[in-house]
Amino acid sequence: MAPKNRWHRRPAELLRVDENFSFADLDHRATPGWTGTKAQGKAFGASRGDLLSELQERLYAHGRTGGNRSVLLVVQGMDTSGKGGVVRHVMGMVDPQGVALRAFGRPTEEELKHHFLWRVRKALPTGGQIGVFDRSHYEDVLVARVDSLVEPEVWEKRYEEINRFEREITESGTTIIKVALLISRREQGLRLMERLHRTDKHWKFDPADVDARTRWEDYQQAYADMFARTSTDVAPWYAVPADRKWYARLAVTELLTHALIDLDLGWPKPRWKVDTQMRRLAATMEGDTLAEARAAAKPTRKKVKRQEQEFAALVADARR
Ligand code: AMP
Ligand code: MG
Repeated sequence: MAPKNRWHRRPAELLRVDENFSFADLDHRATPGWTGTKAQGKAFGASRGDLLSELQERLYAHGRTGGNRSVLLVVQGMDTSGKGGVVRHVMGMVDPQGVALRAFGRPTEEELKHHFLWRVRKALPTGGQIGVFDRSHYEDVLVARVDSLVEPEVWEKRYEEINRFEREITESGTTIIKVALLISRREQGLRLMERLHRTDKHWKFDPADVDARTRWEDYQQAYADMFARTSTDVAPWYAVPADRKWYARLAVTELLTHALIDLDLGWPKPRWKVDTQMRRLAATMEGDTLAEARAAAKPTRKKVKRQEQEFAALVADARR
């Protein structure tokens, strides 16, 4: 039996950042909308795999037949907030062929010669793809601002540039989901210390992480302004409490699932006639093979019909 859907309200409604968002009121350990336990959450998240794969296959098919729709998942968060885990988790549930993953680190010399959106444009998903950004153009109003990498006049005008950029790409068919994984300062301390205790995690540690941590308040302010200035109707932010990793993963899975459902993509219609192609193919087959193929027709159609019904039931359950 499939695990029960224990979302009582959609994370898309509950986590969406609007003008009422406040860091002071945020409970980083909260699990908004999910009424089950951690184990139930994990089981349910895993069960979303079937639905997500079919939704992604539809998107991919749409792209392969010339469609322009795509989805871009932008993942932001402080060090140790679980960006990598969310990315790995999402990627594990879909066909890697249809995913375009890009992690944004410090800009290279080449990248620094260009406008900050240059490297981002090159990494955008094309029709049919799910793009995943591990960090993004938002670093250019976060670290760039907190570490004074550019003058205030420069980062100040980036908010509007980002809004224009995101509007443009939504208009060309991309659905943007922006998630900020929000951990508490206390939880970050624990996670960083754990990395230092574990020789197998030292590779993940960067002394610069401690520098960023000492500027926690500045980062909170930069995040708050980023939310206030760039959570738009076309590309809203979702503030995901992330002290519980399982919840953050479950919530992002649900956001992605709903974004794909909302695309409402059917299977593309072929540009050729099925009957004609069947006749042509039949003419190339031996009598006994043809008989076998004909006998398989009914069960095959039945199987497809059953799959369609299962898919429709999953979509209806997700939408309820
Ligand atoms: P990580 O995601 O842990 O591999 O770290 C990547 C590092 O690159 C972080 O310290 C980011 O702040 C930094 N980074 C990403 N984008 C930019 C940017 N546009 N300008 C400066 N630093 C950046
Ligand atoms: Mg890091």
